[in-house]
Amino acid sequence: MNDIAKKFQIDSAKAAHDENRYQVLQHNINTYHDLLQSNHEIMPFLSTLRTRAEYIKENVINNLEEYLKDFEKAFSLNGGKIIWANDAATACRSIEKILTERNITSIIATQSLEAEEIEIAQHLRQQNIEVTHSHIGNFINEVIGEKRSNIAHAAFHHSFEEMAQLFHQKFDTPEDISPEQLMDFIRSHIRPHFQTAEASITGVDFLIAENGAIVLNGEEGDQLMASALPKVHIAIAGIERVIPTIKDLEIFRLLSEYYKYGREFPVYENIITSPQKSNENNGVKELFLVILNNGRHQILNRINQRKALYCIKCGACFSVCPVYKSIGGQCYDSIYSGPIGTVITPLMKGIKTYQHLCYACTLCGRCSEICPMKIPIPDLIIYNRYYINKLNAVPQPLKRRSAFLFNFQKSRKKMNRNKNIKNYFLRKIWNTTSDSFSDKTFHQIHEEGIE
Ligand code: SF4
Repeated sequence: MNDIAKKFQIDSAKAAHDENRYQVLQHNINTYHDLLQSNHEIMPFLSTLRTRAEYIKENVINNLEEYLKDFEKAFSLNGGKIIWANDAATACRSIEKILTERNITSIIATQSLEAEEIEIAQHLRQQNIEVTHSHIGNFINEVIGEKRSNIAHAAFHHSFEEMAQLFHQKFDTPEDISPEQLMDFIRSHIRPHFQTAEASITGVDFLIAENGAIVLNGEEGDQLMASALPKVHIAIAGIERVIPTIKDLEIFRLLSEYYKYGREFPVYENIITSPQKSNENNGVKELFLVILNNGRHQILNRINQRKALYCIKCGACFSVCPVYKSIGGQCYDSIYSGPIGTVITPLMKGIKTYQHLCYACTLCGRCSEICPMKIPIPDLIIYNRYYINKLNAVPQPLKRRSAFLFNFQKSRKKMNRNKNIKNYFLRKIWNTTSDSFSDKTFHQIHEEGIE
């Protein structure tokens, strides 16, 4: 077992026994489900929408290269600059270069899974570039010194009371602060940075191939400011974020908002087509987009598992997963945790190193039932297990021993042999002293009848 797997085992055992964390997680998951349930009527055509979205994404992922080329052409014609980053190091270096060439020393960073994935904030701070997180969830996680525990909700694992206590200790805010007051405090802390930041780094919800637009949805308005106030805007998007047309956006926006927050529309939606044009008075002077691979080709190359790239990062599958409910998302050593993380993290980061995650699943199937993109997550996890087996991740001697025991158990004649002979072989072959055959064989028990 490698160190990452050992750490997962220790951390997940610890998390599973953390009663307080469990209660907070249950409470937040129940609130989320109540929200979906009570707003169910806003999505009367849910089933049709899901089928349509799956169909569109299937087409996109099967023709990803073409869609990305179309997007690049349109985005570049609009005046934006594309950076193709094959891995995290290339993405970080490219962003650092953009900033250092312009003598930029402070940036504002909005919520972005890809930015967290490549750890750009840590990288830039090492180069003495000041990074301020503008998203409240990310800001809270940074104050606490933790990573996100949910693909859609950065601070999902904390209760308001915990946050209030922490802010009281760190910033001397009142102990009995209300949620509104805490939000006001955080906002007043973050806002001045929008005035001084010379560049912003944001995520992207969707890339629109037909017109080269990037779409940023959010509930706090920080993305709007980050993509308008500084001189330079650098957006980061995984290759799978592309959709064909602006018309398709309606479907994906609806599904994404409903399954993330139980609502129909985002509070803020920014559709950005270009940097500031000569006849415009506002907007950023330069617009960059980092298109990130970082292991996604490993998913794309596996035709049977491509569907994992349909994911719109809504977090719905997390809310029904018995494993996630027990251990949360922070043991996974990846921002992609929960059911979909169990599929994609081993594929993106190395199936040998992260194979343990593929077994952190009961295959109950509730994730695929709720997933708006109808991703058959348990099937994809089984494929991961198949690859592990194929990769000889299970050592040959162990495989041989398993095969021997399997065949032994298939033979009634062998199983009816004396217990001591069977235990001798068991110890010899399996090298175990803790397991042994029962005194009576199944055959004997059956003949005697169960008392
Ligand atoms: S796998 Fe499905 S349910 Fe889970 S985050 Fe992705 S789109 Fe949402």
